[in-house]
Order: sequence, then structure tokens, then C-alpha cells
Amino acid sequence: MRQVFMNAPRDVSVGERDDPKIVEPTDAIIRLTATCICGSDLWPYRGVEDVDHTPMGHEYVGVVEEIGDEVKTLKVGDFVVGSFVISDNSCEICQAGYQSRCFHAEFVSATIGTQADKARIPFADGTLVATPGQPDAELIPSLLAASDVLGTGWFAAVAAAAGPDKTVAVVGDGAVGLMGVLAAKQLGAERIIAMSRHADRQALAREFGATDIVAERGDEGVAKIKELTDGLGAHSVIEAVGTQESFLQAFGATRPGGHIGFVGVAHEGVSIPADELFFAEVHLHGGPAPVRRFLPELIQLIWDRKINPGKVFDLTLPLEQAAEGYTAMDERRAIKMLLEL
Ligand SMILES: [Zn+2]
Repeated sequence: MRQVFMNAPRDVSVGERDDPKIVEPTDAIIRLTATCICGSDLWPYRGVEDVDHTPMGHEYVGVVEEIGDEVKTLKVGDFVVGSFVISDNSCEICQAGYQSRCFHAEFVSATIGTQADKARIPFADGTLVATPGQPDAELIPSLLAASDVLGTGWFAAVAAAAGPDKTVAVVGDGAVGLMGVLAAKQLGAERIIAMSRHADRQALAREFGATDIVAERGDEGVAKIKELTDGLGAHSVIEAVGTQESFLQAFGATRPGGHIGFVGVAHEGVSIPADELFFAEVHLHGGPAPVRRFLPELIQLIWDRKINPGKVFDLTLPLEQAAEGYTAMDERRAIKMLLEL
């Protein structure tokens, strides 16, 4: 089968890999229908994370081809959406809603790699969710978004306690930030301020529910948020970048007693000064999103055509052209790109 490999930073190719086989009785083999390139795939691409002939991809939708003897909730032929983290969905951590930190958690990136024709999904019952039937082609981008960016933006909005009567500010206009806007809208937020300097992303943010746009960044961005909120700051702030600047922007934009939901992957060297943390007096919650917790609800919203997160994909290429897709994402020519199989 075909598999996208990142051989080294800025060196992506489509190579051959053995077809996956059932190893454990709880496994399923799926044939991918669509996959995509994530903003987090750009970290190794840019040399910030180690990479060495690594199989890439952790977002996926597809059809079940084979199941192990102990798989109970899925059957061959089911169309499934899975999280970017494998989970058993039964341990105490999963039961509490933190499937991304499951006792048996395994990241789909790096080892499994879903930028490929097929994938072996361990703990299939705990990781995959079947759709109510075979989806129309137009629903596939939205279902694919649920696998990571929508689920992550949704978790960020929940962690930031977005809801009725709340003003929500979103730091980051990548796919996850835009999904955070969509989630805040669905959760009933009164006002949603998207922080973005790019016209195309501002337009999409408005379409997903943003009521205000702030183009300024850093201290100027914080001042603008304060100005829009009677000097108080937002009740709920979504941090969807993961840099020092974005974290400090999120802290500055949150009112005392408010909530920050952080989902931008933080890297070495990003730190929050303890005095800022102490005096900010805010609720902090975040990390790798437990997408599996939200999948049944998100699939239903998409199935009923109540949300259209698939609009975040603004470039589609065949899997063969994955290298071009990485370049487009790196150069910010695409917000989010879909790879067709
Ligand atoms: Zn678990």
C-alpha cells in the first residue's frame, strides 16, 4: 500500500509499505477514504521535532475492512471516524472523559500513520465511531475534520467554558482556532472575537460565527480585546497556537475568574512566568484534546447538517501529491488540506 513518509525536514515522499494486518483481537483494519495534513505535521517539517523516514498522518475517516475476534461495536463495511489518539474508552481516565490520555493511549502519528491507503487501528471499539450509514461525498470533509481539528477546537471551547452570555476570544486563526469559533457559536456564546490578520481566515471566522475580528497581536491585541470588553477581558479564551507569544496573549485577554482552553501544541522553551500565572487568577485547562469524548455528538451534528466544519479545507490533492500539500501548508497557501485516496 502507499504511505506518506517524512524522510527528513522538508523531504516528504509517497512510498510503499506492507499492508497492515490484525495483530491483536481488538484491532480493526480500515481502508482510508480521506486523510489530511495537520498544522502539527509542520513541526517536524520545519525541523522543530525529530523526524526520520517517519510514516505520517493522524487524521482519518474510512471503511472497516477487517476486524479482530473481540471487536464488538463495529462490523466490516462500517464507515468510521477515529480520534488521533488510540484509546480503550474503558479505563478510569477514559471514563472521566480524557481518552487522549488513556492508560493505553498511543498517538496515531509516527507509528500508525494514516496518510496511507490503509491503517491498523488498535482498540477499535474504544477509538472508532461508526457513522449512522454510508455518508454522502459532501459530508466526508466535515467527518474528517471531526477526527482532529473540530474535536480539538471543540475541546478548547469546552475547556474555556464558552457558553451563553459569554464573550469568547480565540487566539490563532489556523484550522483549530477556526473550529474553536464554530464550537463557541454552537455552545451558545454571545460574542466571539477572532484574532486574525489574514482576510481569507477572517472571512471564514465570520462564517463560522465570529462577531468581531481583532487583527492586532501581542500587547496591542490584548489592549484591543480589553477595549471591546469594557476593560475587563474575555470570559473565555481559546489558545490555539502554542507559542510563548500566543500564551501570553491568551493570559492578557482573559478577565480575572475567566477560563483559558489551550490546545496549541507547546514546545520546549515555551514557559509562563509564575508571577503572571499567579496574578492572572484564571482557570487553565488544555492539552491533547480527548476527541473521542465528543465524536458521537459531532458526528450527529454533521450528519444532521447543523455544522459544516469541512469548509476549513481549502485545498484538496490526491495522496500522490502529498509533498506539494506540505509545501502549501508550510507557505500558508492553504489553511487545511485534504488528501484524497
Ligand atoms: Zn482508557
